Amino acid sequence: MAELILHPGKERSLLRRHPWVFDTAVARLAGHARSGDTVTVQAADGRPLAKAAYSPHSKIRARVWSFDVTTTIDHAFFKRRVAEAVARRAALPELTRRATLPALDGQEGLRLIHAESDGLPGIIADRYGDTVVVQLTSAGAEKWRTAIADSLVKATGCARVYERSDSDVRGLEGLEPTTGWIHGEAPAGAIVIEEHGVKMAVDIVVGHKTGFYLDQRDNRRLLAGLSAGRRVLNCFCYTGGFSLQALAGGAASVLSIDSSQPALTQAAENLALNPQLAAARAEWRCANVFDELRRLKTVGETFDLIVLDPPKFAPSASHAERASRAYKDINLMGCKLLAPEGVLMTYSCSGGVGADLFQKIVAAAVLDSHRTARIVKRLQGSADHPVDLAFPEGEYLKGLLLQVE
Ligand code: SAH
Repeated sequence: MAELILHPGKERSLLRRHPWVFDTAVARLAGHARSGDTVTVQAADGRPLAKAAYSPHSKIRARVWSFDVTTTIDHAFFKRRVAEAVARRAALPELTRRATLPALDGQEGLRLIHAESDGLPGIIADRYGDTVVVQLTSAGAEKWRTAIADSLVKATGCARVYERSDSDVRGLEGLEPTTGWIHGEAPAGAIVIEEHGVKMAVDIVVGHKTGFYLDQRDNRRLLAGLSAGRRVLNCFCYTGGFSLQALAGGAASVLSIDSSQPALTQAAENLALNPQLAAARAEWRCANVFDELRRLKTVGETFDLIVLDPPKFAPSASHAERASRAYKDINLMGCKLLAPEGVLMTYSCSGGVGADLFQKIVAAAVLDSHRTARIVKRLQGSADHPVDLAFPEGEYLKGLLLQVE
């Protein structure tokens, strides 16, 4: 096995159990390794530090599989790690919603593998009923595709595994997009999950991410509890996850905005799957949120509860400044549209904008709107999206629940 030898001092992050080795930390590769091969990472003084997947094309030159250098990285390793990730969720059913195995009650959606935070860098696996959708984004993950898919089938008893490896970040690893069924065949009809009693169709083939934003599941339940009697505005609604929960919670009205007509069509179809909801209280609007918020202000509309869940404005820290302006803009407009004592649920899913910066941006927006706002709850991703403390990059989703005076 080849050895990846670091510059002096560059072992520090690995000793803190951070799983990435950057190209700038590497002195040389001793031996031969191809993309995705396992290498031993070594400190400059020869100390072995970790077993990692080699990625010659990426700035993240290696991703750690194990900090125990005696571990063999083979099919059995993935079987163990995948089973551990699944068992971790099953161990907290009150947080992860009945992740009972092998059958998933109520056909709920659940993230089974959250990449680095589950010790499986470059590997995402989301379960929708008896289908698992896997996304492989690193050279190491790519190499072990079959072992990962087999391990998921064994750990869950699911009938199907679909690969959705079409994320842009694969390009940085020198990998082509890959999609298709790895195990089993396409189900006869649409995949429909149930989330807090609401049915949602999930398009695993063309939907965002693996088809659905599971990271907001816990927050959507929170929204349902806040919605009774309120006029709700849901910005960046995608397929209506927050909108339908607001209706389920008894909202007086729900106006939902998204710039994607296919997403809105799916949202309306999702509403139709739920005859128990008051469909007449829902309105779907295809518009650019930035423009539509301004227009709503000019026509004097107000809302009691506003959700702002925009796309990733800052994929990395280098985009933080432009992203900050965009976050400030929508939060400022949101505050202006809130009735007195309104509630603002506002998010950023940008890795490049940390929780502190996001709070500062929202504070500046509140100030400019001449309102006073109080944080009543800090929000994060669902419990099935854990964050390894050694890997703070895993904490991409952050939000604030504000009461705005
Ligand atoms: N809250 C959703 C997820 C939002 S994803 C959920 O819980 O499922 C972000 C959405 O923003 C996408 O649907 C995308 O189509 C939409 N979008 C991106 N830029 C936009 C813009 N400028 N105006 C309106 N919608 C936009």
